[in-house]
Amino acid sequence: MKKYDELAKEWRERRKNMLLDKENPICNWDDTDILFFRENQGKKITDDNPYVNILDVEEFELLLENEPFPLSPPTMNNPGNPKNVTAEFFKVMHTEVTGDEMYYFKDQKISIERIMKEIKDGAPEPNPDKKMDLYELKGEMKKYAVSLGFSSVGVTKVDRRYISAGFENEISYDTIILLGYEMPKEIIKNYPKPQGELGAFYAYTGCARNVHKVADFIRDKGYQCQARDWKGAIKYPPHAVNAGLGNYSTYGVCITPEAGTRLKYCAILIDELPVDEPKDFNIEEFCSRCRMCQKSCPSKSIPKEEKMHKGILKRQTRFSSCFELMVTDRECMKCVRVCPFSLFGYEKCMDTLPDYYRYNLAKEDLDIEFLRKEGEIDGEK
Ligand code: SF4
Ligand code: SF4
Repeated sequence: MKKYDELAKEWRERRKNMLLDKENPICNWDDTDILFFRENQGKKITDDNPYVNILDVEEFELLLENEPFPLSPPTMNNPGNPKNVTAEFFKVMHTEVTGDEMYYFKDQKISIERIMKEIKDGAPEPNPDKKMDLYELKGEMKKYAVSLGFSSVGVTKVDRRYISAGFENEISYDTIILLGYEMPKEIIKNYPKPQGELGAFYAYTGCARNVHKVADFIRDKGYQCQARDWKGAIKYPPHAVNAGLGNYSTYGVCITPEAGTRLKYCAILIDELPVDEPKDFNIEEFCSRCRMCQKSCPSKSIPKEEKMHKGILKRQTRFSSCFELMVTDRECMKCVRVCPFSLFGYEKCMDTLPDYYRYNLAKEDLDIEFLRKEGEIDGEK
């Protein structure tokens, strides 16, 4: 098997040549099944959901609409199958880091198969004896989810603008429980050295291993529900913000006080649970002064240019170039790794760091020495 670095070098060379060669057929990264959620219908979908108005449509359009994908070559080993572009990289990356190309995918496969089966044949029947009132159930469910390793849990209404095209009928419930699983700080800060785990896949797998346990817990208390995995055809950031888990970051994900941007989400759909209120943690104001993620993004996917929306500065992350770098550069994660909320935690950001970030804002280059002194980062290139 080729080494990951060899593969990446070969890929970059081949990509360059293919882009210069106008006669060769080309394909897009979004031909891979992993990206189906991109076909979001955004504000085209409206309904009578009263909670929709809590969210500002234009703000989300700016944050989450993706630019058209750039042209990229088919695959290195199988020109007919564009899915192999990502599959080949994942296979080698996972083998080099964990010693097993299926290390993470085993649990994800089991989880996805169960989700598909429940959609097709119906989920297990809930306990006919409804044991709790709904507020009590919500509290118990949260406690149980936290005990399984989910660091952020909240409930909101499904916003149908953020369901992927073609999946509307699968999402037949009107309430959603957001479950955020943390990528441990130790894994993120040690990038790019292989440490036996990958950050994003660690959290995706945590979601896969535990989301059905929470769904079964709810059924045991007498209520029917449906588990959705990390690519559950629902855009999670707007729902996470609306469920009061956190606020938007500069690059469009939800920052929570518990874990900053080090979270991956899965969800459970239900009808009955009472919703949580959105909260203002003053994170967006901090982001507008910081720009660490934008300055450190190797593929320049987080643009420097900002637009003012409701008094908040926002940037539109270019998903296409980000995804390519994530696949061909061991998950990348630089934006997560330099984010002060992910590194130092919410309290410290709010209490002691604003002065530093105000100073940093005036500088074009990231002052990584500051972070080194804090002892939180090593291995920085
Ligand atoms: S993962 Fe890497 S390429 Fe993508 S936005 Fe973050 S820093 Fe940029
Ligand atoms: S690095 Fe800074 S600007 Fe980027 S998400 Fe984190 S706090 Fe916000």
